[in-house]
Amino acid sequence: MNYQDKKVSSEMRNRSLAGREATAERSKKFAPSYDGENFFVADRNIATVLPQYLDTSLLAHLQPHLEELGALCGGRLGELADAAERNPPKLHYRDKFGRDNEWVEYHPAYQEMESIAYGRFGIHAMAYRSGVLGWPVRMPPLAKYVFQYLFSQAEFGLLCPVNMAGSSSELVRRYGAPEIREKYLPAMLSQDLSELKRSAQFITEKAGGSDVGAAELKAVAEGDHWRLWGEKWFCSNVSADVVVLLARPMERRRAERAWDSF
Ligand SMILES: Cc1cc2nc3c(=O)[nH]c(=O)nc-3n(C[C@H](O)[C@H](O)[C@H](O)COP(=O)(O)OP(=O)(O)OC[C@H]3O[C@@H](n4cnc5c(N)ncnc54)[C@H](O)[C@@H]3O)c2cc1C
Repeated sequence: MNYQDKKVSSEMRNRSLAGREATAERSKKFAPSYDGENFFVADRNIATVLPQYLDTSLLAHLQPHLEELGALCGGRLGELADAAERNPPKLHYRDKFGRDNEWVEYHPAYQEMESIAYGRFGIHAMAYRSGVLGWPVRMPPLAKYVFQYLFSQAEFGLLCPVNMAGSSSELVRRYGAPEIREKYLPAMLSQDLSELKRSAQFITEKAGGSDVGAAELKAVAEGDHWRLWGEKWFCSNVSADVVVLLARPMERRRAERAWDSF
């Protein structure tokens, strides 16, 4: 190595050392970890904002539940979220006999998070039926959003299915035929995981994402039921028990409206 080469190599080393020092210095500016903290108690903003928007008696009633969820977020829920992240859902194509049967296997950490969201707190149901967390009527949507706000700081992925459950139940309640309501609503809003019917919504298509009006799924009336023709493209919670699809009713109801839920 001649003198010039040595000079260049030493400059490069110095530059990379300086770069590493700078990176280490910037890393000190990370927001601190809140592992082990109570996410609700530590949140001064929420303590200020909630009394302005939530009914006093409801807030007093929810306080211990929010504190419990806040502690879980900084503890068990955070651990479960990390474990579920390392062990994502697995799509199987066949049953154990080799027959075609697609099903999704979830890690136990994900299932335990479900039991916290659906079972312990009923986040999916609190704004859609009475009796959740001992409150005698449906809570205002804001109550649900406070629980979601906390929950999502520890685990975000599960919130989409939880949200689908509530909003799908409201579609069924408002627009479903009486026999459909009777058949599905109690199980969609159940906090008992052995009877809970999980929900999903198929809206997006290849042709229609942002521009949902361009979606092409057709619904054709056949006697007393509808047959759907086409393809959906994207769906959270694909293994759900109850699925709401957006489709364009042909023939019979074309004049009434362009889109409907099925
Ligand atoms: C986490 C997650 C969960 C989801 N869950 C569901 C679900 O449960 N059910 C379901 O049906 N769908 C679901 N989706 C799909 C989602 O609704 C679509 O991704 C969304 O509607 C956007 O459609 P796209 O992906 O086809 O993007 P595109 O519509 O192709 O958009 C691509 C890009 O182009 C931009 N763009 C689009 N149109 C215009 C325009 N006119 N002018 C300027 N820019 C434009 C968009 O902003 C975007 O950046 C989910 C998506 C995510 C990320």
